Amino acid sequence: MSGHKHKKQFGQNFLNNTSVIHNIVAAISPQANQHLVEIGPGEAALTEPLLDRVAKLDIIEIDRDLIAPLTRRFQHHSAFHLHNADALKFDYRQLTSRPSEKLRMVGNLPYNISSPLIFHLLDQAEIISDMHFMLQKEVVERLTATPGNKAFGRLSVMVQYACQTEYLFTVGPENFTPAPKVDSAIVRLIPYASPPFKADQFSDFAALVKQAFSQKRKTLRNTLKNWLTGEQIEHCNIDPGLRAEALEIADFVRLSNLFTQLKKEQG
Ligand code: SAM
Repeated sequence: MSGHKHKKQFGQNFLNNTSVIHNIVAAISPQANQHLVEIGPGEAALTEPLLDRVAKLDIIEIDRDLIAPLTRRFQHHSAFHLHNADALKFDYRQLTSRPSEKLRMVGNLPYNISSPLIFHLLDQAEIISDMHFMLQKEVVERLTATPGNKAFGRLSVMVQYACQTEYLFTVGPENFTPAPKVDSAIVRLIPYASPPFKADQFSDFAALVKQAFSQKRKTLRNTLKNWLTGEQIEHCNIDPGLRAEALEIADFVRLSNLFTQLKKEQG
């Protein structure tokens, strides 16, 4: 597969360091009875070590030029199932064969699709047991940031509403061919069976979080003025003089639940 020309539009930065590959596989800790899904196999840096360890590996690759070489190399492997598809549009539910079956998602993701892909997967979270992804380091910092941290924003809140998140380790640009311009990192996301703080109306929660972070430097009294009064914000035990970046997930849930309740009362 060495003749492959790397395609920038597909974010093709392939891992070239066996000890980094080993560390990623160790972090995933694949077990023989598990069903994994790898997004973006590229030239199989992760695919090959994973295939030897699991019962089933579904692989989603968008680049048609990689399909024939991957098929030639692994078609005799019983765990190997390749899909030439766009991971952003893929219906992962079709991969499960019984109701209780859960998928483990893995991948060294193209940076330009990482956030939309995570949201697409969270829409199907009931069939996912965990996710291990290599992403741009800055995105992993945002996914795992806690309130008050400068990386804490809308992405942190929306993902942490649904998942436990963990920053595992950083991977420098020299470990990829071609080398990207930025550092990467591995994140672990574990969807909650049911969120610890549940929004009564998820669409209100998502819209309120978006609004609260729309002007990062402004206070909640300002950003939420068309949603809740200062008094109503105080009623949720939150100081309206705070900025969104200071709030816990539970705070956003209380605000959106009050908003949902008031909306219902107004008919
Ligand atoms: N896993 C390989 C590795 O670690 O060396 C390749 C990783 S490379 C960063 C990203 C891979 O995702 C490429 O193979 C690329 O063609 C594929 N890809 C890009 N966009 C995709 C999409 N929307 N759906 C599925 N695969 C995609």
